[in-house]
Amino acid sequence: MTAEPTKEKTSPGNYFVANYPPFSAWQPAHVPDAEAAMHSAPEPATPLGLYLHIPFCRKRCKFCYFRVYTDKNARDVETYLDALTREVELYARLPVAEGRPLHFVYFGGGTPSYLSATQLGDLFARLQAVMPWDQAAEVTFECEPGTLQEHKLQALKEKGVTRLSLGIENFDDRILESNGRAHLSSEIFRAYRWARDLGFDQINIDLIAGMVGETWDNWRECVRKTIDLAPESVTIYQMELPFNTVFTKELHVLGSDGSPPVAVADWSTKRAWVGFAFEELEKAGYEVSSGYTMVRDRSRTRFVYRDCLWHGADMLGTGVASFGHVNGVHVQNVDAWENYVDMLQAGKLPLGRALPLTPRQRLIREMILQLKTGRLETRYFQEKFGVSVRDEFAEAFEQMARDQFAALGDDVVLTRQGLLQVDRLLPAFFEPEFRGGRYT
Ligand code: SF4
Repeated sequence: MTAEPTKEKTSPGNYFVANYPPFSAWQPAHVPDAEAAMHSAPEPATPLGLYLHIPFCRKRCKFCYFRVYTDKNARDVETYLDALTREVELYARLPVAEGRPLHFVYFGGGTPSYLSATQLGDLFARLQAVMPWDQAAEVTFECEPGTLQEHKLQALKEKGVTRLSLGIENFDDRILESNGRAHLSSEIFRAYRWARDLGFDQINIDLIAGMVGETWDNWRECVRKTIDLAPESVTIYQMELPFNTVFTKELHVLGSDGSPPVAVADWSTKRAWVGFAFEELEKAGYEVSSGYTMVRDRSRTRFVYRDCLWHGADMLGTGVASFGHVNGVHVQNVDAWENYVDMLQAGKLPLGRALPLTPRQRLIREMILQLKTGRLETRYFQEKFGVSVRDEFAEAFEQMARDQFAALGDDVVLTRQGLLQVDRLLPAFFEPEFRGGRYT
């Protein structure tokens, strides 16, 4: 790998490294491996989490490639929630989960807050009856600001949600609108005030650096408004153009008024925007928690879901197209609504593709995910895997040091430039057959 060019266009494709090996290596032929893993006892001292995918959104954002639906009616939603509950019931009876306490729960999407307070109350009661989360260290719930009402937030608080993640993305109505977001800036402030007043343990704000139409002036305003709100954590993603989004289809098409086609800022500009945000947040007392996240008080603000996953926890991934990891096997559910619902109505787990990991893949997976925090504790790998990662991956680490992306000592510590582009450094640690693998 060589040092980056100063300008680097944002082209279609994925930059973000979500897991290892890449999803394109997961295969239906390995589903029996996932089933065997679920019928085995858990590995000792491995935390267990539950992810629930709520795949509904008011509108499809133009950069979104997730499995979401914008056309389902109330009856469809009920059908889905029945299937989801059934899935959790099936898991609760399997050896890998039976009687095992949940350490973390994550409601993701899609838009979990799309559900009404009544639907949520009913769903939570049914889920808690089979897999209670009273003892969980963290229950995260993703929200789209325009779907929130005070009584809905109150219901979430009462049901044990500890971490509220607000998908704000930007504070400018024109930018929100032209990127297809459903909410407006006024809804952000209203929702935030309700959430703050209700006393949630942790509020996270998501932003995206480089939405179409973004400028330096507006980005500075976004950062200032974020700091004024004083959330416990701020997560900033750099805009990508995954395949199969509205934007990638519009990339070469002029607007009806002859306006130029979609253009996203180049990578060096997006990194500069995130770098600026990190610096401003640091001045306001925040600390780096990962290449994407700043936290206000590191000793109190944990992100249990992320830290557990990045250290090899088990997670039951429920909902259409959801990803999970159990006893060393990656698994993803089927990604079509009908298949998902039909399989659960027939009493079957809706597993679509899987991949059992070799010990080396488990090591690489944890190593690249933990590198995203900006610091790799080499002793952890020595103790858990019996491997000196500094020796084993000497060439890749030394290249990072030569490029001034990392300082090598007992631990590996990324420089700010390394941290801001950590995802493009990670394929150097991949096994050769997975370089260029797709995260779709
Ligand atoms: S709210 Fe999130 S999941 Fe829904 S369309 Fe937008 S980016 Fe996709």
